[in-house]
Amino acid sequence: MSSTRRALAAARRVVVKVGSSSLTSLDGGIDPLRLDALVDALARRRARGSQVVLVSSGAIAAGLAPLGLAKRPTDLATQQAAAAVGQLLLAHAYEASFTRYGQTVGQVLLTADDMIRRAHYRNAQRTLERLLGLDVLPVVNENDTVATEEIRVGDNDRLAALVAHLVGADALVLLSDVDGLYDGDPRKAGSQLLADVDAPSDLDVVRIAKPASRSLGTGGMATKITAAGMAAAAGIPVLLASAADVDDALDTAAEGPKIGTAFRPSGRRMGARRFWLLNAADAQGRLELDAGAVAAVVGRRRSLLAAGIRGVAGDFVAGDVVDLVGPDGAVVARGVVGFDAAELPALIGRRSRDLPVEQRREVVHADDLVALG
Ligand code: GLU
Repeated sequence: MSSTRRALAAARRVVVKVGSSSLTSLDGGIDPLRLDALVDALARRRARGSQVVLVSSGAIAAGLAPLGLAKRPTDLATQQAAAAVGQLLLAHAYEASFTRYGQTVGQVLLTADDMIRRAHYRNAQRTLERLLGLDVLPVVNENDTVATEEIRVGDNDRLAALVAHLVGADALVLLSDVDGLYDGDPRKAGSQLLADVDAPSDLDVVRIAKPASRSLGTGGMATKITAAGMAAAAGIPVLLASAADVDDALDTAAEGPKIGTAFRPSGRRMGARRFWLLNAADAQGRLELDAGAVAAVVGRRRSLLAAGIRGVAGDFVAGDVVDLVGPDGAVVARGVVGFDAAELPALIGRRSRDLPVEQRREVVHADDLVALG
């Protein structure tokens, strides 16, 4: 048994993600039998002393049947309407199912913003920690009804990796309708399921695993690999397995059956800020730095000042995430910008002492900045 699988079995705090197509069907909405089977396995893991956070998709899928929609809508407004209807049904179904075990559940709906803005993520972290402290099992989803296209995490695989980091999980289990990663096209004879991989170095040899049987969720294999890579790079072991194997996937026995694909943690746990900046946010714009500013920001971990900026691109406001690019166009860092895009052209290239007093501040503060590479 690999050390990764031992760590997965022994994990005290586990984040489990389940995909829409493992919980719902297109015509019938939430499938109570499959939901109960998931809850049975989660309750068993709880009973064995693990804390569990569930990241559940299925809000949009569960809302389709009540709205008479034959397939997942493509426009955001209808997706959000379906999520508004479906999230309530999903929460109710979990509450009813966990009640069979006397397990209290709490709903936590997050947006990407909650992960990027410092005050928000601290708040989300505190709430989740408190829920776990109160023996509540948090049921997390993206707050689909308010998240716009720009600020969406978009898929719950990545959301689950973000949550796993947020709560300092010892393991992340991604359950879906795929049973793992293969070394070739899984539909072709001879393709082997990869039991253990080193993320992300092994991943470029990996082909796409079994295609999803239905199109109810958003995440394909690519998002699962990304999510697994994100978590593993931050020191969290990951298991990718079929929801049909949930009992084995959450087994605590050291010598349980070897199902799914286990991703060996490849990095150390990194600071929350760095993790969020690298993984939670899409950059809303870019700041072009001169060579001196690159040296200061990347080499000496200094704040970025207006004097070192040569150009600005994108439509962002203070508090957004931007890429910092060097004179050769390569992205050298990422950070939370302190000014709106419209304010910057008048400031860039000028020294702080030449600026109006209210604008004499860092454009990107060192604490809000992550150097890449
Ligand atoms: N948040 C979406 C939902 O609950 C699912 C996103 C995904 O499929 O990953 O419907």
